[in-house]
Amino acid sequence: MERIVLVTGGAGFIGSHLCEALLNQGAQVVSLDNFSDHYDPAMKSRNIAGLVNRAGFYLYKGDIRDAQLLNKIMQNHMITDLVHLAALAGVRKSISDPLEYVDVDIKGTVNLLEFAVKYKVSRFIFASSSSVYGAAPPPFSERTTSADRPISPYAAAKRAGELFCRTYHELYKIPVACLRFFTVYGPRQRPDMAIHLFTRLIDEGLEVPVFGTGASSRDFTYISDIIDGITKTLSIPLTYNSFNLGSSQVTTLTELIKIISSELGKKARISSPPIQPGDVPETAADLTHSYRILGYQPRVSLTDGIRSFIDWYQKQKQTE
Ligand code: NAD
Repeated sequence: MERIVLVTGGAGFIGSHLCEALLNQGAQVVSLDNFSDHYDPAMKSRNIAGLVNRAGFYLYKGDIRDAQLLNKIMQNHMITDLVHLAALAGVRKSISDPLEYVDVDIKGTVNLLEFAVKYKVSRFIFASSSSVYGAAPPPFSERTTSADRPISPYAAAKRAGELFCRTYHELYKIPVACLRFFTVYGPRQRPDMAIHLFTRLIDEGLEVPVFGTGASSRDFTYISDIIDGITKTLSIPLTYNSFNLGSSQVTTLTELIKIISSELGKKARISSPPIQPGDVPETAADLTHSYRILGYQPRVSLTDGIRSFIDWYQKQKQTE
């Protein structure tokens, strides 16, 4: 049967890479994105500029909470699989505007689950986050680490999304996978995220705010590894599953800045504001389960990944 995938958030960072990969694999791709202004919508138009004229790509500009639009999409396309990436992302903004996060990230997810059940979609893949593990001791395992103590409204909304996925699986047997992404980076990364932000600040000679001592660390995952994890999830039979998609290479902020500085050939000017509420001290993925079930194996090292990011960043700057 031909695969027709609805990708919500298809014009975003991860979504635009996923749409491209699925088209390359011969699937039809329906992208739904409202081009939200949480960061410059022009970046999103550039993200999908190479896709809009490709055969098999359909773009809907609209909101995941718009029931009428979802009906229209589902009637126009026999959606087989749904990958739900649309969200308000990021921890800090969620603390200043928790209700908007509840509205988009929880209500939006439940709305899509309703449609997936109504139109008998055969797979629902939900973009969750390593933030659901809160400040638990790393490495984080889907099997043994509790995800019941999120420390930001964003993390709580992602966990609620997972619980609704579970509920719809229990009620209607819809096959579901919740993918817990660990800090994703690469070309088109959101401008508010550390690697993109630090690159710009160092490049422009501006101060880089390193919250806390610089000892906090992240499991940074290159975009092609994440896309590989998502497409592998689309190829296996699902019940209700949670998978960590990380790199399991952990890097401190101080080390990260050294790598970016060295790749840019520019010195970083550092400031040290206090650590921000909602930020976890460390993330690290235990990949045993995703390797065993999905065959997921991240391949891109941080140095190679940052080199590709900076290459994209510099080309992008010349076209702006
Ligand atoms: P992104 O902001 O680049 O992409 C999200 C897209 O969703 C945007 O294009 C936005 O316009 C769209 N969107 C937002 N609200 C919408 C709405 N109401 N209706 C329709 N579209 C809407 O973010 P990203 O970094 O590509 O993240 C994709 C997903 O992965 C998100 O769910 C995010 O929470 C999750 N995630 C990302 C990371 C990461 O490191 N990037 C880590 C963990 C989880």
